[in-house]
Amino acid sequence: MKLLEYEAKEVFRNYGIPTPEGSMATSPEEASSIAKVLGGSVVVKAQLPVGGRGKSGGIRFADTASQVFDEAKGLLGIKIKDVEIKKLLIEEKVEILEELYLGVTIDRMHKCYVILASNEGGVDIEEVASKTPDKMIRLMVDPIIGLRSYHANFVAKKLGYSRKRMQQLGDLLLKLYKLAVEMDAELTEINPLVEVKDGFLAVDARLNVDNNALFRHSRLREKLIESYLGELSDREIEARKRGLIYVELDGNIGIIGNGAGLTMATLDTIMLYGGRAANFLDLGGGATADRIRDAVEFVLSDARTKVLFVNVLGGITRGDETARGIVEACKVHDGKPIVVRLMGTKQEEGQRILRESGIQTFETMEQAAEVVVGLMGEG
Ligand code: GDP
Ligand code: MN
Repeated sequence: MKLLEYEAKEVFRNYGIPTPEGSMATSPEEASSIAKVLGGSVVVKAQLPVGGRGKSGGIRFADTASQVFDEAKGLLGIKIKDVEIKKLLIEEKVEILEELYLGVTIDRMHKCYVILASNEGGVDIEEVASKTPDKMIRLMVDPIIGLRSYHANFVAKKLGYSRKRMQQLGDLLLKLYKLAVEMDAELTEINPLVEVKDGFLAVDARLNVDNNALFRHSRLREKLIESYLGELSDREIEARKRGLIYVELDGNIGIIGNGAGLTMATLDTIMLYGGRAANFLDLGGGATADRIRDAVEFVLSDARTKVLFVNVLGGITRGDETARGIVEACKVHDGKPIVVRLMGTKQEEGQRILRESGIQTFETMEQAAEVVVGLMGEG
């Protein structure tokens, strides 16, 4: 989940990372009244979940409230990189001495957070990293030891700071690392982090939170679900609330698979045999009987689902759990036929449980798909 700059800055301030003064606006009137309160020159910033706004004209400078009104009017409603601007951040314009880059992200190879820092801030950082890698400082953080003040001061020193400035920058980095860990950030970055007369300010802010960790951040989770309104159907939103990955289509066969790859392959196979999917639901890995019951009930409760095809290739998902979940769901929703392809971990036990409940099971996806499409043909 990508937070907008003004949302990320709110989090930054909660962690004691200083940002310029400012507020979010959704209309030119609001923008100019914020500018009046701030006084002096301001920056009008399009709030978009994409980088490089400056280059695309999404960052404007204004000296008076009426200029702010005009800039805001010009930005709201237009598109940058295909995304419509609905919100602006109006901030005091700060005097910049230096522009730095500071980021914390995950190094998947080393399985840890990595601190990225550079004196080449304010510009396209990917380019700095690829063209002049020596200008990028990288520090892997041992998750057990964490980031200590001597690590942070080392980074600040490498950026050319000493004494009080080094302490300030080191302190800011410690806060950014703490934020990354506690917010389950996939990426958090400040580009540019600017040096001003009496310290440092995060002039830009990015925070991408791992969607799989949103159960720990209920307010963000609600926000993400709100952002689906108008974009997803009511049932798709309901599914998200229940933590299910579910997409509606326009056919009549309900599809449940485990894992995105297998689920897509199931859709293809149904198409190949001449059928059309009503929806699909991806169970992911390691679903328990309860979760499978909820998933089956959810797909069956779609009025357009006339037949349900469950395709599970068990690794960490167990066949017996899968079968129990399906049988449980059938107790509530009998009537609609269910065809299961079940292979992998505990397949014999799973197949036995299904057979005893009179549910058809197959060992290959093709066999099962043919039967599913055949059932539709009869209906
Ligand atoms: P981005 O283009 O989406 O990364 O947006 P940024 O917020 O990083 O702004 C782009 C650039 O605009 C910065 O690197 C600065 O050079 C400039 N800028 C942004 N805010 C200020 C400010 O308050 N004062 C000054 N002087 N420049 C700013
Ligand atoms: Mn930036």
